[in-house]
Amino acid sequence: MAIDERHAEVALEVQAMLGEGPVWDERRGALFFVDIVAGRVHRFTPASGEHGSFLVGPTVGAVALREDGGLVLAAHDGFFYVEADGSGLAPAGSFRSDAELVRFNDGKADPYGRFVAGTMDWNEERPFGSLYLLEPGGAVSVLLEDVTISNGLAWTERGDVVYYIDTPRRCVDSFDFDAHTGTLANRRIVASFEGPGAPDGMTIDDEGCLWVALWGGSRVERIDPRSGERLTVVHVPASQVTSAAFGGARRDVLYITTARRGLDDASLARQPHAGDLFAVEAGVSGPAAHRFVAS
Ligand code: CA
Repeated sequence: MAIDERHAEVALEVQAMLGEGPVWDERRGALFFVDIVAGRVHRFTPASGEHGSFLVGPTVGAVALREDGGLVLAAHDGFFYVEADGSGLAPAGSFRSDAELVRFNDGKADPYGRFVAGTMDWNEERPFGSLYLLEPGGAVSVLLEDVTISNGLAWTERGDVVYYIDTPRRCVDSFDFDAHTGTLANRRIVASFEGPGAPDGMTIDDEGCLWVALWGGSRVERIDPRSGERLTVVHVPASQVTSAAFGGARRDVLYITTARRGLDDASLARQPHAGDLFAVEAGVSGPAAHRFVAS
């Protein structure tokens, strides 16, 4: 079957250094995403074009929605709560990672009202990272150790399988996910990437297929994790493609974050939209984002 080819267009000129972690808030009709190394959370309302942002701290790896309307963050070396307007920033529990070795990277709310986020080696080459699970009460447990660059996460509709990307492995892994014990088991590779580009963030659609952002690859690929087949390629006019999320009134628009990081002046001159937010009609919808249930 021929691969479906699509082309993403600029949705918001935001020139993020490391745009990441988009999540669609269907109640507000807004997309939240982070600029990790700028330590900033962005909010974009496509219907009105309204855009705002707030500063969190040195870095902010991921943002997820809370059931009560606020946000939960994996920022720098810990978990935090913040209101959607950026007010009321406060630690969510006492957990701290070793900020000398790692920083928080990608994360998402899971289907059971918790928050899963991972860390990565600052130098991007040593397995010093872990994948963590934040409970509503603030307790933190380790889901996975020996991670180098913790990245994309997505759960099946039933919530019993989680897809996961540790970028240097150049693949998407899946695990059986035990909701009660929060343990991962039976790791297997469902898709591999030989380049150009390395798998970064991802999301899942209503047909159970994954949309994987390729860092350095100028594209997002839609892959069926059950067969490993590539179904769609979304071309993005920026090489550092970081993540994707479904949004819009019918959640059939794929929003795609990108970065300026890692590009020299000549590359930036060739990619004037590096770091901007892109969108493409996906031809399929995605499920509503899970929400963290704060206790
Ligand atoms: Ca990432």
